[in-house]
Amino acid sequence: MRVVIDQDLCGTTGQCVLTVPGTFRQREPDGMAEVCVATVPQALHAAVRLAASQCPVAAIRIIESDAGYDEHASADPAPSPAEAERHAVKDQRNPGGHDGTV
Ligand code: SF4
Repeated sequence: MRVVIDQDLCGTTGQCVLTVPGTFRQREPDGMAEVCVATVPQALHAAVRLAASQCPVAAIRIIESDAGYDEHASADPAPSPAEAERHAVKDQRNPGGHDGTV
């Protein structure tokens, strides 16, 4: 399992850091959440799913496959029109494509 944070959505509440401190951390000085592991250990999968479900702005995205990062990996291969538009706007604001993974 991998996990990424949409930093365009993160509201810096810190809830994910409180839930799984070994996986998430808050960036100085703005409090933006970051993922601090390349892959989530099996023992933390349930906790990371809980953190994702509790994020107030749904900024945490879980990628179930460990076989490399695939931006399009999901149960639904076709993004919704709203998601496609959101990513288009995000790409304009974040041309480097940083996904919150350190
Ligand atoms: S719970 Fe969501 S909004 Fe809060 S810090 Fe984590 S990713 Fe950001």
